Amino acid sequence: MRKKQFKTESQKLLDMMINSIYTHKEIFLRELISNASDAIDKLYFRSLTDDSVNINKEDYFIRLTPNKAARTLTITDNGCGMSAEELERNLGTIAKSGSFDFKNENGEQSEVDIIGQFGVGFYSAFMVAQRITVRTRRYGDATAYVWESEGADGYRIGECEKESFGTEIILYIKEDTEDERYSEFLDEYRIRGLVRKYSDYIRYPIKMLVSSRALKEGTEDEYEDVVSDEVLNSMVPLWKRTQSEVTEEEYNSFYTEKFFDYAPPAKVITQRSEGTVSFTSLLFIPSKTPFNYYTKDFERGLELYSSGVMIMQKCADLLPDYFGFVRGVVDSADLSLNISRELLQHDRQLKLIAKAIEKKIKSELEKMLSNEREKYEKLFEEFGIQLKYGVYSDYGMHKDTLKDLLLFHSSNERKLVTLKEYVEGMKEEQKDIYYASGETLDRIEMLPQVEAVKERGYEVLYLTDDVDEFALRILGEYDGKGFKNVTAEALDLSTDEEKAALKEKNDAAEAMLNAMKEAIGKVSAVRFTTSLKNHPVCLSSEGELSVEMEKILKRMPGADENAPQASVVLEINLNHPIAEKLFGLFATDTEKLSKYAKILYSVACLIGGVAIDDPKELTTLITELM
Ligand code: ADP
Repeated sequence: MRKKQFKTESQKLLDMMINSIYTHKEIFLRELISNASDAIDKLYFRSLTDDSVNINKEDYFIRLTPNKAARTLTITDNGCGMSAEELERNLGTIAKSGSFDFKNENGEQSEVDIIGQFGVGFYSAFMVAQRITVRTRRYGDATAYVWESEGADGYRIGECEKESFGTEIILYIKEDTEDERYSEFLDEYRIRGLVRKYSDYIRYPIKMLVSSRALKEGTEDEYEDVVSDEVLNSMVPLWKRTQSEVTEEEYNSFYTEKFFDYAPPAKVITQRSEGTVSFTSLLFIPSKTPFNYYTKDFERGLELYSSGVMIMQKCADLLPDYFGFVRGVVDSADLSLNISRELLQHDRQLKLIAKAIEKKIKSELEKMLSNEREKYEKLFEEFGIQLKYGVYSDYGMHKDTLKDLLLFHSSNERKLVTLKEYVEGMKEEQKDIYYASGETLDRIEMLPQVEAVKERGYEVLYLTDDVDEFALRILGEYDGKGFKNVTAEALDLSTDEEKAALKEKNDAAEAMLNAMKEAIGKVSAVRFTTSLKNHPVCLSSEGELSVEMEKILKRMPGADENAPQASVVLEINLNHPIAEKLFGLFATDTEKLSKYAKILYSVACLIGGVAIDDPKELTTLITELM
């Protein structure tokens, strides 16, 4: 046999293949099995129109034969096989068009593009094999051919003996090295695992002779090795079956086994799309947050298949962050099997699929919200915070997608409401959506301003998650209604006359209020208010940042003294006896007024859930006055 060189471009690709592209060597088996399956497809399709092809559909098979002694792994199929000329054409060159003028978007030629564009599947076997022999006979031909190569230095083609049609690929597995245990690819257990992982849904049986020890017949304690023929793949993927044919148990056990969850999913979503891009997806919304969800160990993404062959276990590009809790599989014939990760990211088809999936998840959640409220509320407890982060992230880019999926606690019986429901229940004269934030619902309910707003018959949203207020700020408005923090100074529910009257009082007391402000030293102003009911004082904020937001920012890792601070106003209830008392002190004992100011500020902090800077000073002040 004359030795031939690979075409230069193939040579280059081959080197690249062996050394870089696939990080996981194990995919070589998937590639060879897919080729075998394609070859069987070809023969099968030919048989549909060509009477000279007589094979029962059930007789097609792919066989894996590991041989530890010879250190070979053989992949056999009874597909179409190859003629000498096909062998030359198919395995002598990788980039079949023989040209390298493939350009990427920027007009540059990129290696990754070439890998993505052309098949390099077969050559991946050189990642694990030092030598490969291909013996093949085209269906209907009398002569069989052999192709042999040690990789880099070229290949030989010649005639050979082969009894039946089809192809046999013999991999001479590399010797183990310090870093790589190639022997594992001769291991039945490992091979079975790889087939399950990547090729479980190949339409033809993938067989392997498996040996096991069994009790010898007629004896009670004598064992013998028995060999049985095992089909390693399950062949029909669940997502290819019509939903009505699949039982709930089947979906549940598929989910729990595949995604290692002990609880059945809260929702099964199936989707079949035929259009600009065709794909099938089977998605699950877990009923519980995975234990490692908020750790860096959790990998978001869907399992990606190309016509039943797994190409990526966690394709993160298929799911937006805020739906990161969704699990499942996506199968599309429109994606190339050999597509590399780098290229996949920019794949137009993939982007279309991701868009469609996002839309589907959203509509399913909306459906659940309106038809299965209780279930949705439970789910929201698990994953709602993700959705709120989704609103906040990327400068609010996704807010319109997500705003109707949000739930907040309401002052009305503390039940959960959507923004839509809140707006529908708004009073006629009400212009804004009121909210208050705090660590717990109880604490929020205790806020003086909340009490006052509720007293007037308005509903208040209670925000307890750190992200809540930030999310609302990004939302900006809902249905034309703004959001108002009831502890923000800007909130004013009084009439114009009331406002004017209050302003007069404040102006008149300016000197006293300023003196108090100086004494406290930490507030931007002290003012009288008429909107409080029973409470003597409260803290409110002026400007962009609320007191609650300041607390959250301070807690963030890396926050320092330079973290933005809320501009805080101490508000004093003008209708409370304390007001009279203060006026009296201002006239008689300004030193005592200072002490009162400090105490009142601390009281306001206490009720507002703000830590007191100097508890010692406060206790001294109180005991002194006592
Ligand atoms: P791809 O499968 O992406 O075309 P490969 O390098 O894996 O690229 O294979 C090159 C070609 O070799 C295939 O397109 C096919 O025509 C041929 N081939 C590979 N394996 C087989 C096989 N088992 N039987 C018949 N033809 C095969």
